[in-house]
Amino acid sequence: MATQQKNGAALTGEVLLRDERVSVSYTGKKQDMKKQGAITVVDVDATVYMNFMKSHCCYNAIPTSCKLVIFDTKLQVKKAFFALVANGLRAAPLWDSKLQRFVGMLTITDFINILHCYYRSPLVQMHELENHKIETWRGDSFQNVYLQSSNHFLISISPEASLFDAIYSLLKYKIHRLPVIDPESGNVLHILTHKRILKFLHIFGKKVPKPAFVGKQIQELGIGTFRNIATVQQTATLHDALSIFVERRVSALPVVDEQGKVVSLYSRFDVINLAAQKTYNNLDMTMQEAVRRRTCFFEGVLKCYPDETLDTILDRLVKAEVHRLVLVDRADVVKGIISLSDLLQAMVLTPAGIEALLS
Ligand code: ADP
Ligand code: ADP
Ligand code: AMP
Repeated sequence: MATQQKNGAALTGEVLLRDERVSVSYTGKKQDMKKQGAITVVDVDATVYMNFMKSHCCYNAIPTSCKLVIFDTKLQVKKAFFALVANGLRAAPLWDSKLQRFVGMLTITDFINILHCYYRSPLVQMHELENHKIETWRGDSFQNVYLQSSNHFLISISPEASLFDAIYSLLKYKIHRLPVIDPESGNVLHILTHKRILKFLHIFGKKVPKPAFVGKQIQELGIGTFRNIATVQQTATLHDALSIFVERRVSALPVVDEQGKVVSLYSRFDVINLAAQKTYNNLDMTMQEAVRRRTCFFEGVLKCYPDETLDTILDRLVKAEVHRLVLVDRADVVKGIISLSDLLQAMVLTPAGIEALLS
């Protein structure tokens, strides 16, 4: 295991941006574009965020200092997850010392897959979790059902690539961690996430004239998922929740009562608490208990209503630093999910003609 730090300081979590001098110049006017002899009117207003992301590179969005942990694939899986907890991190690049290159990522999704694969009952010890090396698990996973949620190779990006390309990769490959690798040294500089990119936009986007559509209601814009929402009953077991994570590949589950009203939210991130508290041997506990035991950032559920504007929703997401809001009706019944992936798709990729990478 190696720890890599830039400028000696640990990551503080707030936005310490590498380049504070971001130049922004948007007119917000309609522009005419000649296309195969015909005149196509391009609504510049709709492309503001796309242009913003195309005109800033990944290097701009990485912090001046951050903590990064790299795992050798020979490390035991259990030790790796304990190391993530100890360092307050969510993911780490994997280094294959034989091949002398990065071969993938280890994320909380992998921890979920491992637990789900090997758990039998609270009375049976998971020897595989205790003894397996990362390389053994990865070798196994290529032959089993967990294959679908793993990637065979490392998806990375160069610091010079645009944030638009970073968003495209995150959504195309349905991943939440994108390492920025310096092509010259081969070093991982940072791990980009949707959250980081949106925070960058939130700060520097203030200099960009706000497009009119951010003032529209979310129900009118249709941003998010509104059908077939994966939820979990508060009386279901934690093992049931992990099964839903594995089968549906969703990043979080609204926890609901018998009337379908949302009472809390359990995200993939929360599963790491099982490693932190060494309670992964009991997945038979109820969701009520699992929610009670986790280390919580805040009380309650971060929600939104169909008649709230995109602007309000963006603001709430950025301030709370969460990956999604639960869309509810006035009775708190779950109606949808608005995730950062949905927002980046709608605000950046769709205006570029790239449709529905999330479906
Ligand atoms: P989480 O939301 O738990 O952080 P992800 O959605 O990013 O996890 O990961 C889903 C799967 O994809 C995991 O098996 C993880 O190891 C893999 N993965 C994540 N990021 C990358 C990447 N940049 N390159 C290759 N595989 C990745
Ligand atoms: P990540 O940074 O891995 O994307 P998440 O945003 O999914 O992490 O989760 C971070 C923490 O915030 C978790 O404890 C999760 O339960 C909580 N959380 C995330 N979204 C919500 C929400 N909409 N309401 C309440 N808590 C949330
Ligand atoms: P995410 O993994 O949160 O980045 O989101 C990827 C896609 O899955 C987005 O379109 C989300 O709206 C959708 N999504 C996230 N959570 C759920 C859920 N619990 N049920 C259904 N769809 C979801």
